[in-house]
Amino acid sequence: MDFTLVIHGGVGVLPPDELPEGMEAAYRQGLTDSLNAGYEALNGGGSAVDAVEVAVRAMEDDPVFNAGRGSSFTIEGENEMDASIMDGRTHEAGGVGVVKRARNPVSLARVVMEKTPHVLMAGDGADQLAREHGLGPVPPHYFWTERRWEVLQQRLEKGTPYGQRHSGATEEATAARPGNDGAEENLHDPNLMGTVGAVAVDRDGNIAAATSTGGRVGKLPGRVGDSPVIGAGTYADNRTAAVSSTGLGEFQLRILGTKTVSDLMEYRGLSVDEATKEVHGRLETLG
Ligand code: ASP
Repeated sequence: MDFTLVIHGGVGVLPPDELPEGMEAAYRQGLTDSLNAGYEALNGGGSAVDAVEVAVRAMEDDPVFNAGRGSSFTIEGENEMDASIMDGRTHEAGGVGVVKRARNPVSLARVVMEKTPHVLMAGDGADQLAREHGLGPVPPHYFWTERRWEVLQQRLEKGTPYGQRHSGATEEATAARPGNDGAEENLHDPNLMGTVGAVAVDRDGNIAAATSTGGRVGKLPGRVGDSPVIGAGTYADNRTAAVSSTGLGEFQLRILGTKTVSDLMEYRGLSVDEATKEVHGRLETLG
């Protein structure tokens, strides 16, 4: 095989018959468009970094996913986006957090990686960088979608607590969390999630990973998830693997799961499957 591309549209699994009318087709179309964009890059001799950027960008442009246009809202009804990208050949990386005006946060993350001396930028400074590189500003309503707005209203009406439980957490671990009244989010509901990501191997055998998200619905303004953090949301190393994560960022940030996958492969000789299973196991111990 000359090259490889794998994408994800975020955690959240509902049986097709429970999805709103037309939603399955919309997801399938969005995933196909993303794969096609990445395929074209790789087939044309582009790098793994090029491929993951365009694959993620296609999903950011598609309002069905919780990234770029169609992002989730904070509890105050704003879109604040996070993204990152990493080159497995050079170990260079870039991430952006709490971005409000950049059309494609993943491309801004690439700008951070390639055009600044930094790895992680956030807030107004990141939006300013987007302006300087022609990636913004886009008006806030560009990111607005009725579907995500309704999900925020439901959360506000029901008073569903934010991030109360990780799908794998044990009852005991969940109950032990301070302030936990036992309420639970439906962690299979794609309306609550939909972070996107891509990993690729190019014709030269180099690998890369990228991730982008609007974050979890109802987060506090200024909250930064795992997606822009190298080693948490995204990691790539030619010697091991390229990894893009989805799920509740507050858990992933505590174990730096994508870097841990790479470390388990490098230092303990695990396969990518074994390393990923071990990291899932660790996530499930968190409450
Ligand atoms: N990891 C993302 C975050 O916590 C959300 C998700 O993947 O659904 O911001």
